[in-house]
Amino acid sequence: MKIAIIGTGISGLSLANILKDKHEVVLFEKEQRQGGLIKCDIIDSVLFHKVGGHVFNSKNKEVADWFWSHFNQDSEFLEVTRNAKILFRDQIIGYPIENYIYNFDKSTIDTIIDELLLLQHKEKQSWQNYPNFELFLENTFGKTLYELYFKPYNNKIWKVDLSTVPMSWLEGKLPMPNLKEIIVSNITRQEEKSMVHSTFFYPKVGGSQFIVDRLSQDLDIRTGSDITHIEKINNQYTIDKQIGFDSVVYCGDIRKMPDYLEKTLDGKVDLKEIQNLRSNGTSNLLCETDDNDISWLYIPEEFTSAHRIIYTGNFSPANNGDKQRKTCVVEFSGKMQYEDMISEIKKLPGNLSPIKYNYEQNSYIIHNFETKKLIDQTKKILKEENIHLLGRFAEWEYYNMDKCIEAALNLAKTL
Ligand SMILES: Cc1cc2nc3c(=O)[nH]c(=O)nc-3n(C[C@H](O)[C@H](O)[C@H](O)COP(=O)(O)OP(=O)(O)OC[C@H]3O[C@@H](n4cnc5c(N)ncnc54)[C@H](O)[C@@H]3O)c2cc1C
Repeated sequence: MKIAIIGTGISGLSLANILKDKHEVVLFEKEQRQGGLIKCDIIDSVLFHKVGGHVFNSKNKEVADWFWSHFNQDSEFLEVTRNAKILFRDQIIGYPIENYIYNFDKSTIDTIIDELLLLQHKEKQSWQNYPNFELFLENTFGKTLYELYFKPYNNKIWKVDLSTVPMSWLEGKLPMPNLKEIIVSNITRQEEKSMVHSTFFYPKVGGSQFIVDRLSQDLDIRTGSDITHIEKINNQYTIDKQIGFDSVVYCGDIRKMPDYLEKTLDGKVDLKEIQNLRSNGTSNLLCETDDNDISWLYIPEEFTSAHRIIYTGNFSPANNGDKQRKTCVVEFSGKMQYEDMISEIKKLPGNLSPIKYNYEQNSYIIHNFETKKLIDQTKKILKEENIHLLGRFAEWEYYNMDKCIEAALNLAKTL
């Protein structure tokens, strides 16, 4: 088959590599460079993850096997132990917070333990059965931990009322501790090991740009092609004057789907609902920092609008270039003015000094209670036309890179 892939983030690049030996694949990318969210720049010899600080890990063997068939784990990647921390009441404490309750004052510890014990007597329900994210958190961790940590931290990132967030959005992302685990962790003071990223892999050189560059080899990529128009002639598709595609995979933002898709869906799904899906952008400030051994520092409290520092300089020494100090990325949800970020970093630990700023308009997708049904319906209708949605913004799923690869592997099977 001749297959067009619109969008060259990790989703489009992965799918193209899966298909390229058996099919003719052409990729279209609106930007001048492929890579989407995982692109990196070199600024002043330092590696800048323009969005976040992408690390790789997967619990799915098929995904891991596929990934490592393209990279040499030993010679090209570092295996880094996650050392996440939380900045809380001027202290840097461990993550996840429920395993570090011993850091709080006695009366807070008493209240949290009382609440956790009370929750023990409540009938347990599985996470899917909670009506919303707020109730899940309150009933899993108790009201005090919710108010002190989970609510302010999540509000900072999502900027949304957590009672309007459906559980389906967060599948596979949720911590599921039980009381015994919490008590044992607080006594033994051991790290929770079942987190998604207890260790992760990171390229020795080049960050996630290394992944983009490798996966782009031997592909037919047309950069600078913003696809707004798709034409169907005799059961084949024409895209950007290229004719004869049997199948189209769209990896862009579902709210901005090309005209043809809109026409196909009109009257069958609520297009307005799709166009009104909500997402958040992210502002990132690359900084120099004093030395530490942290991978991520979460910042729930309201004294600053920054919600996380990603110590990318600790992921690989090469990321620090020829700087004397280490580097990190300070993350803010939404669009921040440069001057505001500069005043915010003065409140943060590490004597941060700024190097470069980036704003990404689309980084976090937000679901409402109708979203999953709407997207499933949309996918089904498009599939009948040999058009497929793939990736974080096309499928409107809270995917990490590994989930994008998993979705690409699954889609390739159906193609
Ligand atoms: C702050 C942050 C931190 C993260 N950290 C991690 C992490 O540590 N590990 C991890 O695994 N994942 C992480 N993720 C998730 C990861 O970034 C995404 O899952 C992944 O990059 C999404 O890839 P994608 O290909 O689906 O979408 P994108 O990367 O958005 O790619 C879509 C591409 O399509 C192009 N495009 C769109 N419309 C058109 C059009 N009409 N015509 C042509 N081209 C078009 C875009 O320009 C873009 O290049 C993080 C995400 C964020 C926001």
